[in-house]
Amino acid sequence: MNKELRKNDNVGWKRGDVRLVCCGGRFFADAMLGKLARWMRVMGYDVLYERYIEDRDLVERALKDGRVILTRDTLLMKRRKVGGMGFFIEADTLPHQLRQVVHSFPIDRKCLLTRCLICNIPLESVTKVLVYEEVPRYVYNTQEEFTRCPACRRVYWRGTHREGMVKTLNSILGGTVY
Ligand SMILES: [Zn+2]
Repeated sequence: MNKELRKNDNVGWKRGDVRLVCCGGRFFADAMLGKLARWMRVMGYDVLYERYIEDRDLVERALKDGRVILTRDTLLMKRRKVGGMGFFIEADTLPHQLRQVVHSFPIDRKCLLTRCLICNIPLESVTKVLVYEEVPRYVYNTQEEFTRCPACRRVYWRGTHREGMVKTLNSILGGTVY
């Protein structure tokens, strides 16, 4: 699907077009949308975000990579090159923004916390014994499953942090989504 979109910048985003996006979908969030990008990563969406990037570079990189551009900037949306790859985020606040994204690009529940929140790279499972020296002893003794970011080597595990994020997402999205 991404390939086709690259071929034709003017394809408009209709809800029916993006059924398969989620984990396979790719996004580039503009500089105003750091929080949204982070929370989308929590849900497993592939979202690039750079705090300091020229609009022109952002558009170029997004299009080259077949990424939907998430933006609050009407001028950016109007750039001819952006074409159908722009997705205008209507609201100022994170809950509204997340709801708008989820409405158009459905969640895949199994993708929750499968991506490094810092690097945006899919996490890999790692054998428990290999993280012995990298996680707090209490965590090691109480958790069985660990994942690691192949880029920054950060180790992730289930725990209160995850529960907190799930709770926040459920309250934002309304109901028990996760
Ligand atoms: Zn990482």
